[in-house]
Parts: sequence; structure tokens; C-alpha cells
Amino acid sequence: MSALGAVKGFGVTFAHMFRKTVTTKYPFETPVTAPRYHGRHILNRHPDGLEKCIGCELCAWACPADAIYVEGADNTEEARFSPGERYAATYQINYARCIFCGLCIEACPTRSLTMSNEYELARDSRKDLIFTKEQLLAPLLPGMEQPPHEMYLGETEKDYYVGALTNPGTSAGAERAPWSDRETADGSGATA
Ligand code: SF4
Ligand code: SF4
Repeated sequence: MSALGAVKGFGVTFAHMFRKTVTTKYPFETPVTAPRYHGRHILNRHPDGLEKCIGCELCAWACPADAIYVEGADNTEEARFSPGERYAATYQINYARCIFCGLCIEACPTRSLTMSNEYELARDSRKDLIFTKEQLLAPLLPGMEQPPHEMYLGETEKDYYVGALTNPGTSAGAERAPWSDRETADGSGATA
């Protein structure tokens, strides 16, 4: 390196000595992410509480890291978890493998799968990094009923999907999820 290059390099260091120090008081204040930050996933619900996931496995096939495991099963008249024929009896995401690329949510045909802004996913064991369907499902809001139950929003599954404009992709419950019930650096509380 030439002497001029060294002087230029030290000049950059020197200039930074007089800039304002940026200190993040994490974990006492959690930084606010960009709105479209890719964090932990959410399995969304219809407004009556039925699950949007139909157990099709498209998300699992789209995943380049093989991080998703789905086992579909048939709904019955006695036990209905989603509109239509099928639901996910088992749904898991392995956060030891996930690279947060978002390809799974692009593949999902029902907008069941979305991503929150939650990034605190460190765990003490690999086993705990496998999130189950119960952990990923959006919480029930007032007016929602825990499945299984019959279809309250229409006679067929079409009634759920044709009315999609009034049935948003992400559950309104997502921002009230237990994992986002804490203070953020801007005082807004929610991170989802
Ligand atoms: S975000 Fe990417 S790596 Fe993670 S589960 Fe989805 S497709 Fe797989
Ligand atoms: S989350 Fe979406 S893509 Fe994955 S199994 Fe459920 S409906 Fe299919």
C-alpha cells in the first residue's frame, strides 16, 4: 500500500471518531425492523378461526433448505379445521435450516403462510428450533372459534376465497401474537 493510500485509510478512521455513537440498548429496547423484514412465520386464520392452510405441501416443495414438513389430512363433517377438503394435520418449520428467503410464502396458494418481523429465534437446543403448527398458528381473536368447527362464512370453500378482498392475507391476530407483546425502541410495542 502506498503512503497516500495509508493516509486515506486513516483519514476514514479519524473522521469516524467525531461522529455520533449509535448504541442499541438491546435486549432492553428491541430495534424496529423494516416493515417487510423476513422474520418468523405465521399460519393465518380465516375470520371465523378456521385455518387457511390446506395441507398442500407447496411451501415444503418450494423451500430450498428443506426446512418445512407438512402432513395433510382430510377434513370431515365431524372435524373441520379448514374450508375445503384438506388441512395440515402436522406442520413444522425447522429454524435451524430456514434461511428466511420467503419462497415458501410466495408458493402458498391460500396466503396461509406469511412472515412476521420477529427475529428473536435463538434457542438452547436444536429440538426447540423446530416450531410446531401450534406455535406457528396466529392467535384466536374475539369472534374466532378454535377449530374444529363448521364453516361459518359460507356454504363452500369458494365463499372463503372469492371474498378474499374482505378476508386479508395476514390474520389481524398476527400483530397481537404473544411473541410481539413487548416494548420496541420506538415504543410501538408490536413487531409483527
Ligand atoms: S423462508 Fe425460505 S428457507 Fe425458510 S422455510 Fe421458507 S422457503 Fe424455506
Ligand atoms: S402453508 Fe400454504 S403452501 Fe404450505 S401447506 Fe399450507 S396452504 Fe399449502
